[in-house]
Amino acid sequence: MGPPPQRYAPKDVPFSGLCQLLDVVKDAQKSKKTKHLMHFHDSYLEENSEDYFTVYRTLLPHMDRERGYYAIKEQRLAKVLIEACGLSNSDAQTDAKKLLNWRSGATSKWAGDLVETAYECLLVKHCGKPRGTSRMTLGEFHGLLDKLSEGQDLKRQSAVMSKLILSLSPEEMKWALRVILKTKMHLGAGEKGILSCIHPMAQELYNMTMNLKKVCRLLNNKAAVLESQKVKLGSVMRPQLAERINTVESAYSKVKDKEFVVETKFDGERIQLHRQGDDVKYYSRNGLDHGSTSGYSALSDVFRKQINLQDCVLDGEIVVWNKKSQKFLPFGSIKHVVTLIRSEDATGTTAVQLSNDGATDKGSESQVKLKDLEVTYVAFDVLYTRYEGSMQSVIHLPLKERHRLLAQTVTPAETDTNEIKANGVTGRVICILPGESEYSRLGTDEASLQKQFDESIEKMEEGIVIKLLCSQWIAASRSSDWLKIKPDYVTEVEVDGVVIGGYYGTGKRGGVLAQYLIGIPKAKGDEFLLSFCKIGTGLTDGEMQAIHRKLQDNLVDTPPPMYRITGSASEKPHAWVRDPDKSVVLEVIGDVRTIPSGSFATETSLRFPRAKRIRHDKGLRDLTTLEELKEVKPKDLVE
Ligand code: ATP
Repeated sequence: MGPPPQRYAPKDVPFSGLCQLLDVVKDAQKSKKTKHLMHFHDSYLEENSEDYFTVYRTLLPHMDRERGYYAIKEQRLAKVLIEACGLSNSDAQTDAKKLLNWRSGATSKWAGDLVETAYECLLVKHCGKPRGTSRMTLGEFHGLLDKLSEGQDLKRQSAVMSKLILSLSPEEMKWALRVILKTKMHLGAGEKGILSCIHPMAQELYNMTMNLKKVCRLLNNKAAVLESQKVKLGSVMRPQLAERINTVESAYSKVKDKEFVVETKFDGERIQLHRQGDDVKYYSRNGLDHGSTSGYSALSDVFRKQINLQDCVLDGEIVVWNKKSQKFLPFGSIKHVVTLIRSEDATGTTAVQLSNDGATDKGSESQVKLKDLEVTYVAFDVLYTRYEGSMQSVIHLPLKERHRLLAQTVTPAETDTNEIKANGVTGRVICILPGESEYSRLGTDEASLQKQFDESIEKMEEGIVIKLLCSQWIAASRSSDWLKIKPDYVTEVEVDGVVIGGYYGTGKRGGVLAQYLIGIPKAKGDEFLLSFCKIGTGLTDGEMQAIHRKLQDNLVDTPPPMYRITGSASEKPHAWVRDPDKSVVLEVIGDVRTIPSGSFATETSLRFPRAKRIRHDKGLRDLTTLEELKEVKPKDLVE
């Protein structure tokens, strides 16, 4: 028996050693991947270290929230690499060009993969060390990444990058770039498998905290017992999710012997609201605090007025209520409205473009003023509140009991009773509780469930959510405790649009235009084409390749003058079609409930757009016009 392997403090693990492990795991059979990682953790890492995070933030970079944003996406990274390698002579410029064209892959077989393109045309020549000889430790590696995230200055970032390039081998540098891009490492081991190397309960704790550093610290010892999970103020949890069921009949068969409630499925943004005294945080579905970025915080005073406790955590959905038409705005409008709340240029009379916003707002005008809108927090659950005299986590209690506590925690307001306004927009909190809200009813039999579902279709809502009243709230669970039924169909509209630009794909679609920017004219006979929507699904690989072949000699970098695109937020494809007359007409389908959009010249776009087929038989004269589209109302299409 040989000597036991050397154990390392995580920060002293050689970066090259970790890269060897990553290579092994990547190539291993699926069933062996976690075993390799587990062996590394158990045999090579210091026992019960306080610092496993240094290792796991390298294995799971997309879950690392500790370091600020590097402001480095692929295109920027290409520039930093080029600067770092000092590519100036003409030979090197060819390499730089190749790297900048990584998407199209015109000059490389690795089209669509920046890391592999960089390896091929840059790293192999410029990295300073042969494989396995680098002396950089993991601690030093992360020290450099900290520096990389400190500013957006190209010179400073490239100085850090050149240190990495000189200290690592080309193969190691590939792994380093993946960590920097914070993409998944594609090891094939899965988040759960990797986390299980730290501790069997690591995934569960991550779901409850969304904090990898904390997970590594609290569960640094395999014998550590995870106390039953509790909600903590200011610490976001992965939200509970719903199982999708296709028919009322099968949903009913799952709940018929139990007490259940049927709720409207609101079509807004899932927000976990944490109130801690005066501070209100709005965590999105992926755990980011959207308060300051979204404009919700401008309404915190209003929301606080209706929350009866200094401290509490609510689960719910943010939607926008149109006080004029007495309907909720469709999904796409919310982002638009909350941006205007923060805008210095907006006032109560600023118009919000709703266009053919259909369904939830049938019969309304296409524009509404900001002062006619109310941001509504629909609270459907309470996770932390006062219970039996003390403030505590209540997720272990049955939903029925949590409903009772929700009613005590929040005093719902009538619409427009709040005088506090953000650019004219008011806000309020409502609770959906069975028997007290039109959006929630106690379930009885299959017929009434069917009726509720039919009503939701009629009102063109997103569907219904059925919840067992005995169920606990479980972070990240997608179980039969919550079932969602959505209509099989959305009322669809068909639009004939022309491809005016394209986006290169990645992976097996690397080098091929795999998404398209679609243009339509405003009116029949117009020579100008307005950007209208972006699509990437609905066609087969073969059809995409055929489109690519047809367009490849007709592509330019700047938009031709006959295209109308809008301001700073407009969609910019990787390549524009020079001559739309020689382009491809696609039949595009999407939900008739079009959404307002600042990204397209039409100012309104399709929801869930996808290609139905290529219309070889149609040309520019046959395109659907924006005027025609505005005429289509949801009610015309409901059978
Ligand atoms: P979807 O696109 O259907 O929203 P999803 O994967 O984002 O899917 P699911 O868990 O499948 O989420 O569906 C539950 C989602 O529905 C929640 O995340 C929430 O945003 C939304 N929702 C709307 N109304 C309710 C409600 N009354 N109760 C629970 N969730 C609701």
